[in-house]
Amino acid sequence: MLPIASYRSVNEFQDSSVDYSHYYNIMPDGTVKQINPFTGNEVWAVPGRSSRPLTNSSERSRGKLITGEEDAICSFCSKRYFETPPEKFRWVRDGETWRKIEAVAPEEYFTTTAEFRCVPNLFEIVTLDYWKKNYGYEPPASEAERLQVYAASDIGMQHLRDVIAYKQSLSNQATLPPLTDAEILERSEFFFGGCHELINARRHFVAGEGIDQELVSSGLLTPEEHYYYTRITIDAMEGIVARNRYVRYVSIFQNWLRPAGASFDHLHKQLVGLDEWGASVTRQVRMLQSNPNAFNEYASNFAAMYNLMIAENDHALAFAGIGHRYPTIEVFSKSVHAQPGEHTDEELRGVSDLIHAIHAAMGPGISCNEEWYYSPVDTIVKMPWHILIKWRVNVPAGFEGGTSIYINPLTPLELRDRVVPRLYELRNEKRVSGIRIAAECQLRPNMLEYVSSQK
Ligand SMILES: [Zn+2]
Repeated sequence: MLPIASYRSVNEFQDSSVDYSHYYNIMPDGTVKQINPFTGNEVWAVPGRSSRPLTNSSERSRGKLITGEEDAICSFCSKRYFETPPEKFRWVRDGETWRKIEAVAPEEYFTTTAEFRCVPNLFEIVTLDYWKKNYGYEPPASEAERLQVYAASDIGMQHLRDVIAYKQSLSNQATLPPLTDAEILERSEFFFGGCHELINARRHFVAGEGIDQELVSSGLLTPEEHYYYTRITIDAMEGIVARNRYVRYVSIFQNWLRPAGASFDHLHKQLVGLDEWGASVTRQVRMLQSNPNAFNEYASNFAAMYNLMIAENDHALAFAGIGHRYPTIEVFSKSVHAQPGEHTDEELRGVSDLIHAIHAAMGPGISCNEEWYYSPVDTIVKMPWHILIKWRVNVPAGFEGGTSIYINPLTPLELRDRVVPRLYELRNEKRVSGIRIAAECQLRPNMLEYVSSQK
């Protein structure tokens, strides 16, 4: 039995021997009681609930695509570049060569097609005003200059007007006076100096005349595209930190499909600069201060002991997580480097390949959140870069509210067994490579090497 009171405080981790049964207990009837070692969440998986379908079928097979329409479905599509605020940078591909183009001029938007595009979020969670009023933050002069250059172009100024007008149209103010040029510039400042960005992928649907509509999820990118998607996200994260010295953490996440909170079903990641770490990261850092090896003991070693491993390659591992409100696959970098941006190119490809493989195995029909965790900018504690992929297939309800016990529709072993057969198929189809699956994993204690850099 696992009453929540049995959760041990972080101080108890120091010099303690690990007792996994406190956190993971399979009852004789098959109920799996779990406590997440990193969050303290109490979760049960009850037998028989896993037979419900998990895919969100309404997002698929809505008829045939019409040729020419596939690039103009939503505001993130490549024929509708002017429906997002001014672009910060894009990556384009010439054959096998990828290159970055910074601050594309409005006249040049359609000269190239972006494989990935970094644009400001029109609806910031943490606003430029927040940074200015609370910290006295001023964006770098180069961003103010970029705004001036953009607005000096007729197309650029019209773009700013259109985007601001669109935002205003969604507010409740019935009649609004026309804005002067100065007001447009003032309201456009956060497009250039703000700290909430999106990375948008090129394709909305899988291309091909007459085929059933299928959304392009992370798993339907090629491994090479996914590597650049990951690298470009890290690039944007470092840009935010470099631009705003008050940022202590950049929250990075991907909401896939509406049940996961996505406004658009066009693949994109979000980055939000924060002036704090948030409760979850703070708790993980505290745990590491008490026990630097916590992520080996309570993540990788734990998963290996209970056969929760799904796959690994030389630089990352993936396993079914315990104690999550939603079925959750955890991907960990094995690197000695704790920051995503410190990873070598080979390490980054390894982590990206495994994230990609998990998304590919899920397929595009399962709504999910992808959440990144890593060492905050201003801590000396090393936390391994890890990514949680949470399947948003259940909705916590009254039972959870009343008891603080969360019901997860899949046990960790059921989750593993849904993903593993699909990984074998994908490897046979040569859509994923370089991974060892399930029993092939070469497991050893303390595989996460971040701890060796922790002094
Ligand atoms: Zn789109």
